[in-house]
Amino acid sequence: MTASAFPSRQELEDWDRQHVWHPFTPMQEYAQERPLIIERAEGAMLYDLDGNAYIDGVSSMWCNVHGHCVPELDQAIHDQLGKVAHSTLLGIGNVPSIRLARKLAEIAPEGLTRVFFSDSGATAVEVALKMAFQFWQQTTPAKPQKTRFAALQGAYHGDTLGDVSVGDIGRFHNRFKPLLFETFRVPSPNCYRCPMGLQPTSCLLECVQELERLIEREAEQLAAVVIEPGVQGAAGMIPLPANYLRRLRDATHRHDVLLIADEVAVGFGRTGTMFACQHESVVPDFLCVAKGLSGGYLPMAATLTHDRIFQAFLGDALSGTTFFHGHTFTGNPLGAAVSLASIDRLLEGGVLAGLAERVQLLQRWAERLRDLPIVGNVRQLGLLMGVELVQNRETKTPFPAERRLGHHICRKLREQGVLIRPLRDVLVVMPPLGIDVSLLDRLCEFVYHAISTTP
Ligand code: PLP
Repeated sequence: MTASAFPSRQELEDWDRQHVWHPFTPMQEYAQERPLIIERAEGAMLYDLDGNAYIDGVSSMWCNVHGHCVPELDQAIHDQLGKVAHSTLLGIGNVPSIRLARKLAEIAPEGLTRVFFSDSGATAVEVALKMAFQFWQQTTPAKPQKTRFAALQGAYHGDTLGDVSVGDIGRFHNRFKPLLFETFRVPSPNCYRCPMGLQPTSCLLECVQELERLIEREAEQLAAVVIEPGVQGAAGMIPLPANYLRRLRDATHRHDVLLIADEVAVGFGRTGTMFACQHESVVPDFLCVAKGLSGGYLPMAATLTHDRIFQAFLGDALSGTTFFHGHTFTGNPLGAAVSLASIDRLLEGGVLAGLAERVQLLQRWAERLRDLPIVGNVRQLGLLMGVELVQNRETKTPFPAERRLGHHICRKLREQGVLIRPLRDVLVVMPPLGIDVSLLDRLCEFVYHAISTTP
């Protein structure tokens, strides 16, 4: 394309409005505003068409790990481009995806040695749901009645119909109810708004007891429990209480129910360990990863499982035991190459080791934010934080939905050069793990100031 053929800013804005249908975006409102269009990035900064700079405060939708335009990651893609950009995994292999599967098997909780690639968080979870379902029909002895799933209130596992069936965010999911399968639902372990009406001081993890009872009662028909280890992300960054995941794992083991760990949002260092399951030494039956797998560079996802599951799918071509699921770009060599470079940087490059300093800084800001009059609760784990805004701290009364406070504060921040996205009135701060300490400090200061100056 010649320089003169390159569209002007105005053309880009017009074409964006005319043609691009943005996800999770009320398009009527979108069309009325001047769109923000990102043109380039560097480190934890994004730049728009006018050259205005923005701190990438939510890691470009929770996926960026090292920042943007990282030389080693760029180089990994460049090197792979010189070999092959894409070739299929259906029935044949490619070098980067083999190396990546090996690497994932090395760093994942022990025994998760079988790696099925896909291309988004949603597909990583969908694959686990389908594998769990099919496993029970084909294992010996088969238990074909085990077809149901259990998940938490407020769960979010992606937007395919299977994921929406196990999900539970009313405004995202209710619309599709007629198309969905029924899921057993248990209370969210939301300690700030305890669904069991308890106080943290008197709590005996009644929420996990309820989950344990459900697993015992329904084991005959339960294929698997699906959970977001670490935090329930889209529910509002709700951390699982200590010991919750361990007790869930023990209960699923006792009753031969599978455990699907959806680490799409928290895998690859976000909570301080490579995987959130590792905080409680839990080995799930399925580990679903995406977002941070490729450092947030390319659409890349994986569902890891162990040999007991894999063995049940063996059989010749006519046996019908094959896992009939796949995507054209499964195991894409560019995505696999950049994923390998990203994992290397996390481990050998010291990003994971250097996280403690950033986490401590975020903790200090969490303490300060807790004192603000409209902050009801601050939930921080590793390098992620959710700041829940309330109208009344005593009664925990939320602001009226029509006020759209979270949205307005994020808009104000955007004008000041900070990009974060709210989950209703929970402000999410989730910058790249490799963000400079001074920039993280500035990001938090902006958020603090925006909240403290909100009338
Ligand atoms: N699972 C969890 C826990 C998520 O947070 C998300 C996305 O935010 C997904 C699954 C879906 O991932 P994707 O948007 O890549 O499909």
